[in-house]
Amino acid sequence: MPYPHLLAPLDLGHITLKNRVLMGSMHTGLEETGDWNRVAEFYATRARGGVGLMVTGGMAPNPEGGVFPGAAGLFTPQDIANHRIVTDRVHEAGGLIAMQILHAGRYAYSKDCVSASAIKSPISPFPPRELDEAGIEKQIADIATAASRAREAGYDGVEIMGSEGYFLNQFLVTHTNHRTDRWGGSFENRMRLPVDVVRRVRAAVGADFIVIYRISLIDLIPDGSTWEEVISLARAVEVAGASILNTGIGWHEARVPTIATSVPRAAFAHLTARLRPEVTIPVITSNRINAPEVAEALLAAGTADMVSMARPFLADPDFVAKAATGRADQIAPCIACNQACLDHTFSGKLTTCLVNPRACHETLLSYDPTPAPKSVAVVGAGPAGMMAALVAARRGHRVTLFDQAEDVGGQLNLARLVPGKEEFNGLVAWFAASIAEAGIEIRLGQAVGVDHLRGFDEVVVATGVSPRDPAIAGQVQGLSYIETLRGAAVGSKVAVIGAGGIGFDVAEFLVAGGHSLTTHPDEWRREWGVGDPATSRGGLAEPAPEAAARQVWLLQRKAEKPGRRLGKTTGWIHRAALQMKGVKMWGGVSYIGIEEGGLRISRDGVEELLAVDRVILCAGQVPNRGLADLLAEAGIAAHVIGGADVAAELDAKRAIDQGARLAARL
Ligand code: FAD
Ligand code: NAP
Ligand code: SF4
Repeated sequence: MPYPHLLAPLDLGHITLKNRVLMGSMHTGLEETGDWNRVAEFYATRARGGVGLMVTGGMAPNPEGGVFPGAAGLFTPQDIANHRIVTDRVHEAGGLIAMQILHAGRYAYSKDCVSASAIKSPISPFPPRELDEAGIEKQIADIATAASRAREAGYDGVEIMGSEGYFLNQFLVTHTNHRTDRWGGSFENRMRLPVDVVRRVRAAVGADFIVIYRISLIDLIPDGSTWEEVISLARAVEVAGASILNTGIGWHEARVPTIATSVPRAAFAHLTARLRPEVTIPVITSNRINAPEVAEALLAAGTADMVSMARPFLADPDFVAKAATGRADQIAPCIACNQACLDHTFSGKLTTCLVNPRACHETLLSYDPTPAPKSVAVVGAGPAGMMAALVAARRGHRVTLFDQAEDVGGQLNLARLVPGKEEFNGLVAWFAASIAEAGIEIRLGQAVGVDHLRGFDEVVVATGVSPRDPAIAGQVQGLSYIETLRGAAVGSKVAVIGAGGIGFDVAEFLVAGGHSLTTHPDEWRREWGVGDPATSRGGLAEPAPEAAARQVWLLQRKAEKPGRRLGKTTGWIHRAALQMKGVKMWGGVSYIGIEEGGLRISRDGVEELLAVDRVILCAGQVPNRGLADLLAEAGIAAHVIGGADVAAELDAKRAIDQGARLAARL
């Protein structure tokens, strides 16, 4: 059997999980749409895919504890009936599902938020109200009531959210708890709230119900928990009635990345391994685990009893079924980009997935078999073309995919050269394996013209983009980002023109000097200041970045702070990474010319020569529309997608989405 540890059942006493895979909690925004059929289909699709146990997005126990005003929860009989639609559908699909109870405390985006002490979070505009004794009792009672309503709604368990800096964490550490009553001061007092919550939840739901407690193993904030405190809490929570301990890593306000793509795979699993011998209940490990071989290795090494993966189930609901049937190469990988999931959540948009546009759109976007198979030519094997080809072939069309390059992938083959973006290797490999499996005819190394495309029923042009030439005057040519990423010599001082996504990536490539911290977890932890909670509170250490391979200036014309338009949840990581390497990030720059001695610029009205060896151009893209124009002239109808359609604000998310949606209609 493949992955024997991952696919082994787990006996919890009153119930047995069919394997060791937990789909971790994610806020998708689906519950707030009020379309409960859609919510049910999201979870049922993943239950059909074979996951052992799922946890829902966080449900508020009361209005003051909701992450934002109007956050979903089990408040009325109608709410319970709505959730019943979900749990029934999951059970029909052979799955199990627990409801997460999430009290946000001072992270609640509301002036009514409450906490241990009236100390505002750095990531919220609202100072919380300090709870009195009656207020604390109300919160505990509301959480216990939410748990019994979850049971009434047909859930198999609850997860009590005790990590990521939410309400229960806020009582645990002196960073946020300045109380002097029985809820503050000594650790025994500070852990009273989470332990009481677990005890009261267990009393409310009875013995035959799963109670997961998500415990913060490393807070990554000043005055966070020590390891000794983490263990004391874990043991107390076990005694209070938890059936499983799930791992949480870092508070939301921590300045250390914990799930972004540049975080090494399983970078924090060693902490779960250290927790495991301290308790007798099963423990779950999490964070940056996205492939069955990684999960299997962790379980085989005794790190944990189960593995939690959340975003990987957006990318591929059939993760477990594919792993179990020898089709692991066909698991669409989560590349940990956050672009369509967390970035959407934090912009008030519904979650979906860059790799899988059907995620959270299961009832709206379907790839049904076509009643009328056609011959389809797709030109360009970048993400837009590959996705269009794949969906069309899966629907039963006969697809031929052309690319002038020798490999599929388009610009993804450049992205994967950037240190910290190793996950793009898996994305390209998945596309290649899926294209082969779908029986698509593939013709590489051939620039396609109009004559190649005559006779097809449908033609899709996905010829992508080329770098924009910013036409800066001077005797010396700038180097394109393509030449740079492919290894052109650049010297020891470099100016990068353009501070968009590609400019930032190229700057990271240049300072890294061919060495990726993402594949060296110990170095990554040193660079970011991740220490040992056994020796420093919260596991914070002084960041000790390696010296940059060269001096880099990253420039843009806009007067705003460079990087302001990067991903909502990842932009700060790129800026911090470059800051640690001493990169000078300047906005408000005018380019006068490239000279033998460097790049002449003007900034705040002052002219200066940056004495750099090379100037690298990352000044955006223009569409490759040549083929589309020729087809139009020849009177051949074509669908134009991805960068060939619109280059502005293009990214792989839009390219894949456009490819999938077109092919779903063909
Ligand atoms: P392309 O990827 O450009 O593919 C077009 C394909 O068409 C190419 O393979 C080309 O060879 C082929 N072609 C062109 N003309 C012809 C012809 N006449 N005949 C045959 N074949 C032809 N996006 C993100 O979302 N997230 C990221 O983190 C990210 N990082 C990036 C990092 C770098 C360094 C770069 C360069 C890009 C990054 N992108 C990222 C952007 C993303 O890769 C592009 O937006 C995306 O690849 C565009 O997809 P596409 O299919 O439209 O075009
Ligand atoms: P971009 O984000 O549009 O940035 C282009 C940069 O070039 C801007 O900084 C712009 O700044 C500058 N520029 C534009 N025209 C110029 C001109 N004529 N002369 C000089 N400078 C000029 O595009 P990109 O960096 O090429 O990225 C392409 C796409 O890939 C983007 O959509 C991006 O989101 C995506 N991508 C995403 C990631 C990610 O991590 N999510 C990473 C890489 C790429 P000024 O106009 O202010 O000078
Ligand atoms: Fe993973 Fe990116 Fe999809 Fe989010 S959008 S699930 S991070 S691949």
